[in-house]
Amino acid sequence: MLFKVGQVLYATLLSVAVHNMETEKEKTKNAGDLYDAIVVGAGPAGASTALFLAKSSRRVLLLDKSSFPREKVCGDAFSGKSLGVARDLGLLPEIERMPHGIVRGLLMVAPNGKKVTVPFPNATGLEFAGYTVERRHIDNMFFAAALANKNITVHQNFNFTALIRDEQGRVCGVSGKDVISNKEQTFHSRVVVGADGAASLVSRLLSLPNSPIEHVYSAIRGYWSGVEGLSENIELYFIDGVLPGYLWIFPMEGKRANVGLGILSSDVIKGKKHPNTILLDAIAHHPLLATRFANAKIEGRIGAWAIPNGSYIKKNFGDGWVLVGDAASLVDPFSGEGVGNALSSGKFAAQAIDAAIGKFPGIEPLSADSLSPYSHEVDVKLRPEMVDSYNLQKLSRYRFLLNLFIGKAADKPEVRQMMVNMIGSDSEKKQANSPLFYFKLLLP
Ligand SMILES: Cc1cc2nc3c(=O)[nH]c(=O)nc-3n(C[C@H](O)[C@H](O)[C@H](O)COP(=O)(O)OP(=O)(O)OC[C@H]3O[C@@H](n4cnc5c(N)ncnc54)[C@H](O)[C@@H]3O)c2cc1C
Repeated sequence: MLFKVGQVLYATLLSVAVHNMETEKEKTKNAGDLYDAIVVGAGPAGASTALFLAKSSRRVLLLDKSSFPREKVCGDAFSGKSLGVARDLGLLPEIERMPHGIVRGLLMVAPNGKKVTVPFPNATGLEFAGYTVERRHIDNMFFAAALANKNITVHQNFNFTALIRDEQGRVCGVSGKDVISNKEQTFHSRVVVGADGAASLVSRLLSLPNSPIEHVYSAIRGYWSGVEGLSENIELYFIDGVLPGYLWIFPMEGKRANVGLGILSSDVIKGKKHPNTILLDAIAHHPLLATRFANAKIEGRIGAWAIPNGSYIKKNFGDGWVLVGDAASLVDPFSGEGVGNALSSGKFAAQAIDAAIGKFPGIEPLSADSLSPYSHEVDVKLRPEMVDSYNLQKLSRYRFLLNLFIGKAADKPEVRQMMVNMIGSDSEKKQANSPLFYFKLLLP
């Protein structure tokens, strides 16, 4: 009896499946080309999503309004976390062929001018901690890998303008304009990935609130050549008017440096000086910088862009969509490092999308429920570090604490090591929230 019920059930399911396949074929035909995923934005987050999906043989449409190689305002530091994802994608050797600097350690300067230098731990498999590489090179490396991948259709110069929704309100595609031909185009997919950066239009069209200004850095950077005293250390200057942010000098190849600063946007509004003025004043007058920049020349202009921090927790998935990278507000709130989390979130999104398609084959938009493992992965793998970094950011508002940390680190090797771990990505940031930590710091 049980067997017969099973047979009937099987026959019914089979006929439903055949019927579904036919309607699916029909719908696919009607919808034009149905992609597994459309990724809007081909920066690190979008390229990573596309490349990991392609590794799982999923069909991806990768769109970007720019033409690559394109510039991106950034500090150009490529950390161990970023290197890990580049390694997963087999791209590590490419970086060596680009103009680059090598990072081995960190110089930190307190508001009172006290300074300390600490080595970073080496990145896995390398004899140093990371690179500095102009973003136009590094982003083009990921973009070129996507371009060469047969599972990825790339459309650059495509300005995304609208989300397409089905009758149930689920996101099922995008439309926009080819900026060269001026032609409007619409594409359909099972999921749309918003990887369109800090000013994400995908996010806005989903009616998600922008990251509040107290969770966003306004950051600027320029390139200087002829800077004296550069080494293989990145340099952070905690200066008044910028805290809890900092001014950085990141050594590039030759005597070039990427020099910039990040100030919380809520403080920029309250402050009297433009960030560019603060940067140029510091270079001209800071006792540790003025002589080093005396003969240095700026190349081009100072660029500015927003850094949406992971201290703001933003919804990152729904029916037929996910957000990755800056679009999902995933930058480290203390260091301002965002490329590592952008690449990692792309990898996690691809894994979740691949699993969801495997579990629910067909043509329907992927449900929020089926995409929720992405958000869970972000919460487990990226969130704890961002929470700790946010606590560190809040402490860095107090110049006396920075003077104390950096002063003690200059004198005590064990405090130096603790600070390396805090600035790096791995652990020990939690210690900064423990009363015992301050007690230990205050000990002679
Ligand atoms: C001054 C500054 C310094 C920084 N320094 C560092 C650093 O040293 N190290 C670090 O790790 N991080 C740093 N960051 C953060 C880092 O730049 C970002 O976290 C990172 O770029 C996020 O990658 P993403 O792919 O999410 O977005 P993006 O790199 O911004 O890429 C988004 C892409 O989407 C495309 N796009 C946007 N709108 C549309 C549209 N309508 N249609 C089609 N395409 C669209 C854009 O053209 C772009 O290619 C810095 C940021 C700033 C502003």
